[in-house]
Amino acid sequence: MPNFFLENPDAVATFDTLVPWPEIVPLTEGAGADTKENVATWREVLSVAGEFIGTEVAGRAKEIDEIGVVRQDGRVELSGPMCANVKGLADLGLIGLSFPREYEGSGLPFSVSRFVVEMLARACPSTMVQIGIAHTAPATMIYRGGTDEQRSRYLPGLAKGTLSGAVAMTEPQAGSDVGALTTIATQRNGCWVLNGRKQFISAGNGDFVIVLARCVAGSSGLEGLGLFIADRKMDGRDNYVVERAEHKFTIRGSPTCALAFEDTRAELLGAVGEGWRGITSFMNESRIGIGIQGLGIGESARVAAHAYAAKRKQMGKPIREHPMVAEMLLDMDTAVAGLRALAVEASVLQDRMIASMRNGTEPDRDISWRLRELTPLVKWYGAEEMIRVCRLALQIFGGYGVVTEYEVERHMRDALILPIYEGTSQIQSLMAVRDLMRVLIRRPASVLGGGPSGTLARVRFRGDAGRNFAAARRTLVATLRGLVVGLAREGGLDLLRGRRQPTDDELRPFLLHAERITETLSHLHVARALGEQAKRAPERGALFAYAARRARLVAKRNADAIAAGDGGVFERIAEWERER
Ligand SMILES: Cc1cc2nc3c(=O)[nH]c(=O)nc-3n(C[C@H](O)[C@H](O)[C@H](O)COP(=O)(O)OP(=O)(O)OC[C@H]3O[C@@H](n4cnc5c(N)ncnc54)[C@H](O)[C@@H]3O)c2cc1C
Repeated sequence: MPNFFLENPDAVATFDTLVPWPEIVPLTEGAGADTKENVATWREVLSVAGEFIGTEVAGRAKEIDEIGVVRQDGRVELSGPMCANVKGLADLGLIGLSFPREYEGSGLPFSVSRFVVEMLARACPSTMVQIGIAHTAPATMIYRGGTDEQRSRYLPGLAKGTLSGAVAMTEPQAGSDVGALTTIATQRNGCWVLNGRKQFISAGNGDFVIVLARCVAGSSGLEGLGLFIADRKMDGRDNYVVERAEHKFTIRGSPTCALAFEDTRAELLGAVGEGWRGITSFMNESRIGIGIQGLGIGESARVAAHAYAAKRKQMGKPIREHPMVAEMLLDMDTAVAGLRALAVEASVLQDRMIASMRNGTEPDRDISWRLRELTPLVKWYGAEEMIRVCRLALQIFGGYGVVTEYEVERHMRDALILPIYEGTSQIQSLMAVRDLMRVLIRRPASVLGGGPSGTLARVRFRGDAGRNFAAARRTLVATLRGLVVGLAREGGLDLLRGRRQPTDDELRPFLLHAERITETLSHLHVARALGEQAKRAPERGALFAYAARRARLVAKRNADAIAAGDGGVFERIAEWERER
């Protein structure tokens, strides 16, 4: 097994030349810190991590998948090899890499720890979820919203791997519609108690859980929610019940639990009524994490497909020399490198946001807007395009692709969770398109220029690749123009002048085509990110050229689909509404 950092040329090139370290280093090390020295140390950390993850963690992945979760005497437990991974990562200090230094962490920027997340996802996506959800997520939430006492109580154990938590938002009837949750938190004798159920909670079998619950009587939707920490054991007894771990075909080593709370004693994390705000700030970060998980899985599939296509011969030559297979490989290379470029950009923005939060300063508006724009795209592209990458790898393996001895079938299965958790692909698309709509309504004239995305509108590239990029952008803008004209026709100029908000009915075409718009947007951003990298590192020109061509084709396909109308969808919805 290789070193997953040093033997990944694109990751190394990205680290060495494409991350703006002079901008990042002062954020964690203070002004005047030596950039070269810090970056050299971080590179060393990543090479140690790459060795351990590429050998030990990757070496246990098949067994973790085969065993899944251990269910014994009504208990849900991690498998032996998963425990070995957690211990090994903790011993190397890799769990607490981005945790604050005063709580046993290393305080490294996300721009560094994201490489570890990618390597873990490449080696074993179940282990990546276990580290991300059972350790990093609760530590981040407690650090941001907790008291000093709560931080001291939980963070060191989370960093050392001796304590594990979970984050519980979803309920049986409240998935994408979080505001429909019914778990309630009430005060009794000066203590908070929780009653309700949570569903699909990753690592829900751990030592504690952070629960999103309704705590303001009479509130509804996303108002009146709070976050609560509930310890699993209280006075030697179960404080809540881990009812079961679901049996599933994807990320099998990660326990996905149903939890029941009945007069569960809990303590408030943050302020009453601030629950939704607390969880969204964390969720935006974890969505980028899931995009990076997709990157790791895609990288695994890509590497396996290349190796196989080089040695498998059919019709007298290696299959990679047959044009259709060669195109699949090129497609995979571009999608993976493109996602890495976009994820690196988002990570840098995230580091700047985190630094503002830590310093208690207002984040730069441009940075928060750009991060908000990229987050659903990294998640969408990291899920949907990496599923496509895995599907191509499976195809390149032919019949062997479906045989469990070859690991591409596992990559395919693991990739299928990506568009579901941390906000489905449809929810990411709604987020991306709603923001676009806001700009369109505020500045309708943007559809006469480079479009509502400032980042896309500003950039210029030369040559054929630049022309393809510009054509893709023009196609998207023309599509949006068509939709805005339709909106004005339906809703009148008052709407476009921002005097009132569009109704759901008026927005129907945007809601129907949200994922198509998001797909085009994400391909444009991937091409842009690679194009910007190619300006600094000309050897990336071929990746940019391929991505720009692909963006043009995707934009055209989606524009045609949108122009073809609704295909009878709205009529069918009206029928279902009548049947209700
Ligand atoms: C393995 C796994 C681990 C998980 N881990 C956690 C965890 O740790 N903590 C936690 O709180 N939750 C967790 N979840 C829950 C996960 O976040 C939800 O499954 C997800 O948010 C979707 O909710 P749902 O399953 O209820 O689907 P639903 O919300 O019912 O959606 C069903 C389908 O309808 C679509 N849909 C819904 N609303 C709309 C709309 N307005 N427009 C268009 N399409 C729409 C969705 O995109 C989806 O395709 C996990 C889930 C899984 C499977």
